[in-house]
Amino acid sequence: MRRPLVVGNWKMRGSSHVIHALLAAMRPGADTISDVDVCVCAPFVYLDQCSRQLAGSRLMLGAQNVGNHEPGDYTGEVSASMLLEFGCRYVIVGHSERRHHYGESSALVAARFASALRHGIIPVLCLGESLRERKSGSTCNVVNEQLDAVLDLCGVASLQRAVVAYEPVWAIGTGHTASAEQAQAVHAHIRQRIRRLSAEVADSLQLLYGGSVKPDNAHDLFAMPDIDGGLVGGASLDAAAFLAVCNAAKPLS
Ligand code: PEP
Repeated sequence: MRRPLVVGNWKMRGSSHVIHALLAAMRPGADTISDVDVCVCAPFVYLDQCSRQLAGSRLMLGAQNVGNHEPGDYTGEVSASMLLEFGCRYVIVGHSERRHHYGESSALVAARFASALRHGIIPVLCLGESLRERKSGSTCNVVNEQLDAVLDLCGVASLQRAVVAYEPVWAIGTGHTASAEQAQAVHAHIRQRIRRLSAEVADSLQLLYGGSVKPDNAHDLFAMPDIDGGLVGGASLDAAAFLAVCNAAKPLS
């Protein structure tokens, strides 16, 4: 039985004051959810204040990207060792906004993934196709290429210490979520591709769905057999909505 996980992605949003209020509203509810892992990924500059505010909480902290090198001459980058100092347990790598706005290749994403693993931070590897790619029938080819870059560099066993998030680009921040069936089909494909290399890794991998997850669609998505939780953008900026999504991920008893 895979443990459900919900990861909030605040993107480049908030301010010191807004984030303090958001965590204050989230923490009590998050602390009562014992059967779902919950994490919020803050902008780098707020990690320090978040780690202080979350001391002793079940609510875990993550970052939104990580440098692919150890500390050195890499202006603008933040290393995994630095994230660790602020208690980051997770880090998002390969978000479509990084791939599309900043030209991050699958090879670079794989190197960022490796860097997180070297320091014991759990990478949340994002995969997903654009609308054009979906319409042309190349969804599986796109996610294969993105996944294979990590498998080639780090090996299948690395996924035992990682999370994969399928995020169709056309569903991110658009309000057009994939249907539960559309998401399940791609999740099953990803799990099957990993199963060719290791059934054990495929069966234990936490596979999240991201793309306009909200309280009103979360139940249907999370009920799918290969969807183990969500990567949540917009709804993670509203404490009540985020907690409702987290509660929807609870396993049915
Ligand atoms: C995201 O930020 O990865 C995301 C899926 O955003 P949203 O939930 O707003 O679509």
